[in-house]
Amino acid sequence: MKARPAKAPPIPAHPGVTVLEDEVVWDGRFPLQRVRFTYARFDGSQSGELVWELWRRHAGVAVLPYDPVADSVALIEQFRLPALAAGLDPIMVECPAGLQEIGEAPEQVAVRETLEETGLSPDRFELICRTMLMQGGCDETMHYYAARVRLPEPGAGGEYGLLDEHENTRVLVVPAEQAFAMLDANQNHECDGDGLPLVAAASPGAAATGMGVMPTELLYRDDAYAREATATVLAAGPEGVLLDRTPFYAQAGGQPGDAGWLRWEGGEMPVNKAVKGEADTVLHLPAEGAALPPVGATVTAALDWAPRHRHMRMHTALHLLCSLIPGAGVTGGQIGAERSRLDFDLAAPPTKEWLTERLNALVAEDHAVGERWISEAELDENPSLVRTLSVQPPRGAGRIRLVRIGAEDAPVDLQPCGGTHVRATAEIGRVEVTKLENKGKQNRRVYLVLAGE
Ligand SMILES: [Zn+2]
Repeated sequence: MKARPAKAPPIPAHPGVTVLEDEVVWDGRFPLQRVRFTYARFDGSQSGELVWELWRRHAGVAVLPYDPVADSVALIEQFRLPALAAGLDPIMVECPAGLQEIGEAPEQVAVRETLEETGLSPDRFELICRTMLMQGGCDETMHYYAARVRLPEPGAGGEYGLLDEHENTRVLVVPAEQAFAMLDANQNHECDGDGLPLVAAASPGAAATGMGVMPTELLYRDDAYAREATATVLAAGPEGVLLDRTPFYAQAGGQPGDAGWLRWEGGEMPVNKAVKGEADTVLHLPAEGAALPPVGATVTAALDWAPRHRHMRMHTALHLLCSLIPGAGVTGGQIGAERSRLDFDLAAPPTKEWLTERLNALVAEDHAVGERWISEAELDENPSLVRTLSVQPPRGAGRIRLVRIGAEDAPVDLQPCGGTHVRATAEIGRVEVTKLENKGKQNRRVYLVLAGE
């Protein structure tokens, strides 16, 4: 009779368990046992007879190579037949991992597999946790390690794997924050076996607070007329939906956040308003009781265009209003689809009739509205530019977006702004200054409406 495989030892004795039969029914790389048994229930009585299949894989190790200086991680891509069987993309993004032989220490496996699959030699391993993944049918226990390494720049880090074992892995060096975003987008299907998202396990706090999330790509920055766009859901909750990209303007600088809809196959979520989230993200706030899109889903993000277009016209008109009151500091402002206002630090304002007339002249002249990104250094090197600007740009962001109305050499208005504008001033249509209000000794509030609508 054939000896019992080392990976399929008999079930250990346990006071509550009676093993009636324990047979190895398959003796391949991973043995399969059929076990007939009874066990003690919580009330102390003995259960009826059960027959379970038990797949013996013993133990495994998964490693997250982390570079604490660059704040990046190494992941691998490799072909996985079981993923194909599950109906998934068979090229999976994973943590390096491998199985433990009988008598081998988990840390030995961690060192070996990291080298074989990534070419990296970590100088330190830290055990994160040990867990079972398929306790309903398999004995495999996984050890998760964080490993300290120096990683190259993000990108492809070469191909590895033992050719004689037909292994082929491709290393991906990814900034840690991008790895978190990939997890949110469900791109790390597994770490090995039926793995759980190890990157999140390494630092659940960061994942929970939304730190390390990729900044949202702001599509309205390049095209204020983009009414809709497809995007991927990175996270979704009652506190908001996070997309990888969005045409929605997030409330800021006196301009309201856009409303609209997220639509996906089989669902729609009305967006009440887009607001700024943590770390340069945009949160799409769901209407009360609305269904949320599934994480990882492709959605069409569509704006409620009519109010947004009015905001663009109003916003551009306020730039023109600024240009008519040179030298006066702007102390506040609010854009609305029906009425907007700007507050000026100004002792003696012009009349509303004069402002209305001058504004409509600028509208009729149909000045082009353009933008230009400059660096802080470029701003410092061009003092004339600073003098032209009606508003001083915020410092510390590195790059500044300048919005210009009119010709480059003689702009009607030039100022740093992150909002949405129309292409040319004629699109604003007729405007009217309806009211001037005293708000304190020096403060004058100017109200503006889109006339004739
Ligand atoms: Zn603006």
